[in-house]
Amino acid sequence: MRYFVGNWKMFGVPNSIGILNKINRFVSKDKNNKKYRVLVSPPFTLLESFSKIFKKKAIRIGSQNCFHKDYFSSNTGAISPYMVRKVGAEFIIIGHSDNRAEGDSNKLLQKKVLFSIKNNLKVIFCIGENKTEKRKKITGKVLKSQITKVLIKKFNGKNIILAYEPIWSIGSGKIPSEKDLIGTIRLIKKTLKKIFGTKSVPKVLYGGSVDSKNIKNFKKIIELDGFLIGGASKSSKNFIDIIKNYYR
Ligand code: PEP
Repeated sequence: MRYFVGNWKMFGVPNSIGILNKINRFVSKDKNNKKYRVLVSPPFTLLESFSKIFKKKAIRIGSQNCFHKDYFSSNTGAISPYMVRKVGAEFIIIGHSDNRAEGDSNKLLQKKVLFSIKNNLKVIFCIGENKTEKRKKITGKVLKSQITKVLIKKFNGKNIILAYEPIWSIGSGKIPSEKDLIGTIRLIKKTLKKIFGTKSVPKVLYGGSVDSKNIKNFKKIIELDGFLIGGASKSSKNFIDIIKNYYR
């Protein structure tokens, strides 16, 4: 099973439902639709309405990030995993480099993962090295630390999907070489196996400037279980073309 996950970031108003209607229509009729799953994460403001509309449809709706407390609290502007689950979110993106840059530490991320799983949300946990770390050739060390400082066996690998998103690639149009990517994905899977064991090792996605043209470069990397897609997920045509070209 492959995953195509859309991350809308700070994009979308109620009218934007049209984009998802088109994607849903495509997926429900696609002859390859048994081979993959489409998940889209709109902002908090659209979670309830979109979750209702796509309940039991071909695509699934999830949340971007959450506050690091479980239920209700006195933190102004905060939204908990319990709250997003209650309005219908089925999964959640945690550890995105945007949120790490805003101060999400490993300790805080571990709480977010813990409370999300407790509230029956599938966690898409993002990791990735920055440009300097890549240049210094410490990508492996950085990724291992991002994984082992947050993910622990009791979370159960079945509740987690890992997304490898090199920060230098997000929104830049640059993607890793095939050789680098294969090596990195193998290292990630090895690290995950050590934590969760071979029977419940999380799926591993790639994210960073994926589009309908470069998707063909990723086809032959069988180690990859799917993609986290930012910019290109905000257009139904671009998103659908990514899926079409992947299976072409
Ligand atoms: C992202 O921010 O998660 C992402 C993958 O963005 P883009 O596809 O635009 O690089």
